[in-house]
Amino acid sequence: MKVPFLNLQAAHAGQQEQIEAALLRVARSGSFVLGEELEAFEANFAAFVGSPHCVGVANGLDALRLGLAAAGIGPGDEVIVPANTYIATWLAVSQCGATPVPVEPLETTYNIDPTAVEAAVNGRTRAILPVHLYGQPADMDALNAIARKHDLFVLEDAAQAHGARYKSRRIGSTGTATWSYYPSKNLGALGDGGALTTDNAEIAAQVDLLRNYGSRVKYENEVKGLNSRLDPIQAAVLSVKLEQLDAATLRRQKIARSYSAAFEAAGLAAPMVPEWADPVWHLYVLRHTDRSGLQKRLAEAGIGTVIHYPIPPHLQPAYADAGYQSGSFPLSERLADEVLSLPMCPAQTLEQTAYVIEKVLALA
Ligand SMILES: *Cc1c(COP(=O)(O)O)cnc(C)c1O
Repeated sequence: MKVPFLNLQAAHAGQQEQIEAALLRVARSGSFVLGEELEAFEANFAAFVGSPHCVGVANGLDALRLGLAAAGIGPGDEVIVPANTYIATWLAVSQCGATPVPVEPLETTYNIDPTAVEAAVNGRTRAILPVHLYGQPADMDALNAIARKHDLFVLEDAAQAHGARYKSRRIGSTGTATWSYYPSKNLGALGDGGALTTDNAEIAAQVDLLRNYGSRVKYENEVKGLNSRLDPIQAAVLSVKLEQLDAATLRRQKIARSYSAAFEAAGLAAPMVPEWADPVWHLYVLRHTDRSGLQKRLAEAGIGTVIHYPIPPHLQPAYADAGYQSGSFPLSERLADEVLSLPMCPAQTLEQTAYVIEKVLALA
């Protein structure tokens, strides 16, 4: 048996005709930038999240940087970020001219540690940028309380958390969150895409302006904007895929429940879920001290796995100028050495899930 890490063709199979019909509809429409398809998807995604505003942009990284820029964050400002995240979270801060200030996660959930966040706040801190890593919500009540106390902006990186719930509320239903529709995300396009949702009308209007050359009226430019609009072809496909997102999430949750029941019983380091969290399992991440050995043995058994992420941002050459070293963030570094993402695909069969469990139990 073979179990791929993720099979997008299989995941799309049930909607292939609708996806292709959406592509044709846009191809025949004569409207290829902004327009009705984009507005329809923005309304659909806002309703899904439970947020009053959604602005579609070119990708998740742009959603983050435009969200920060809309809040006025720039040179001289510090933004608190997780030390263990995909580098996009940091790059968005750097691209605004601000400084990412990393803090360690909680060892239980791998999400940003509110106590460490509070300790990192100083006079230059302007924002907190938590990530709902692997599709598991960060502790937003604790983070929002710190933000209120120190008058900080909160931007949630929800690139991995479409549909996740924190204390029964959908992520993004309060505050400002950014989304990626990169193909492998829980809601993925047929290429790049992203969005920002917010309950703040001013932030929404500013991102709307910034994504379109700083222009509301054609050839009149109010600010130095970007060209970062969500493509109508992608918007049309995303509207189709959004219809099946809750069903796909239920399948992910079922796979995760089977994995965790077996791995916990065997004493393996399965992900820990707080009682207030409803994760959407963008990734199912096991920890193992012999990670590369386990990955190799699973590959020999036909099971695809991926490491998210092997090198933390502070040890990337891209951030050499920040002066961090090996040992600067020991927990994040240990996680980078031990995490292994198991197959997680809405199209995964019961037999495939059982096979992954059998092999992990035998080979870990
Ligand atoms: C995917 C991802 C992004 C970036 O999204 P792109 O659409 O690839 O630019 C940002 N943050 C996190 C946590 C991600 O997983």
